[in-house]
Amino acid sequence: MNREEFSERIRQVRLSPTQKVGQEAEALKAQGIDIINLGPGEPDFDTPSHIKEAARAALDDNFTRYTANVGIVELREAVCQRYSQDYGFTSSVKNVIVSAGGKQALFNVAMAVLNPGDQVVIHAPGWPTIADQIRLVGAEPVVVRTHPEDGFKVGATQVIEALTPRTRLIVINSPGNPTGGLISEEDLREIAETVENRRIWVTLDLCYERLVYDDKPHNLPAVLQEVLPTRSVLVGSLSKTYAMTGWRCGWAIGPSELIDACSNIQSQCTSNASSVSQRAGVVALTSSQDCVTAMQDEYLVRRDWIMKWLQQEPRISCVVPGGAFYVFPDISQLLSPESLRTSLEFAKRLLQDGRLAVTPGEAFDAPGFLRISYAASLDQLREGMDRFTRFVAELKDG
Ligand code: PMP
Repeated sequence: MNREEFSERIRQVRLSPTQKVGQEAEALKAQGIDIINLGPGEPDFDTPSHIKEAARAALDDNFTRYTANVGIVELREAVCQRYSQDYGFTSSVKNVIVSAGGKQALFNVAMAVLNPGDQVVIHAPGWPTIADQIRLVGAEPVVVRTHPEDGFKVGATQVIEALTPRTRLIVINSPGNPTGGLISEEDLREIAETVENRRIWVTLDLCYERLVYDDKPHNLPAVLQEVLPTRSVLVGSLSKTYAMTGWRCGWAIGPSELIDACSNIQSQCTSNASSVSQRAGVVALTSSQDCVTAMQDEYLVRRDWIMKWLQQEPRISCVVPGGAFYVFPDISQLLSPESLRTSLEFAKRLLQDGRLAVTPGEAFDAPGFLRISYAASLDQLREGMDRFTRFVAELKDG
């Protein structure tokens, strides 16, 4: 169909590239081909049973109707309690909106604070949705690069240097997808202090907040509450912490005026997050967090296993990620003009010939890298890395 049939806006965005790789892997699987899939950005664990039980109870209770746009009071209270317990962060239900995942929460905020032509400082390598959402609302992402040499940490100096009179928002994701990099409390404080007297919002994407392996203090919400209480937003989600990606339930926490604005936007597109998921969310957030610790312990074992494996291959360099469930190795030494020229080509061939799905760095604005998810069992990781080794050996021989 002719491109003119569609809006200008739709030309700004693509299908999320991370989802595209997953779709290709699924298509091969559907043909009966045995694929090890280390592509997806989601936990391999099942949702813990006490949380599923709460969803069953919600159904039996016929809790199946619309809820308030902003979500049920019990869940918003549970979010406040969780952040109070975890970070000493003070909020009340008027500061919380529940959305269909952290993704929608981020989009609501972009819609609520940005005008066409505004600039938003973001960091790369990064999750592509953040830039695409900004483009969708007609604003312009301004990208600050982070580097493997310093663990892909988001540095205050670069963020501050990227600010212009058109900057309206800074979005920071920590722990970061795909790098696992963290921003330090000091750097965040410096950024928040710099924008304190300017009309600039700070959104902190905390979707991987319970997957931090570093011992260093990482109380980012407390920093923002202290320095920038009137223009900062925290975005969180059930997805990664409780293995609940498909339940579509996340939230934004911010000043009540912003939450009202987000509520107006959400009321015109999806209304509320699923009623059943919300009831399950209350139980996830308020009951014992042992399931979270157990999953985190398992991720750490896997991270250490895969790092050991990566360190044996001299042509791959990889920083030890401080959080999330990805490693992000630099594979540029495995590329060459005669064979596989880009990490995208590498990942495509690795899927077709090596039957291993990973996500090419191009999806995160970082050619030359691969994102390998270790949200997979150790058996799968072992088999996946065996396939990787065989594929690379055949490259050399061929
Ligand atoms: N932020 C980041 C950095 C992510 O990687 C994701 C999911 N891939 C999200 C937010 C949103 O997750 P959800 O919508 O499932 O809460």
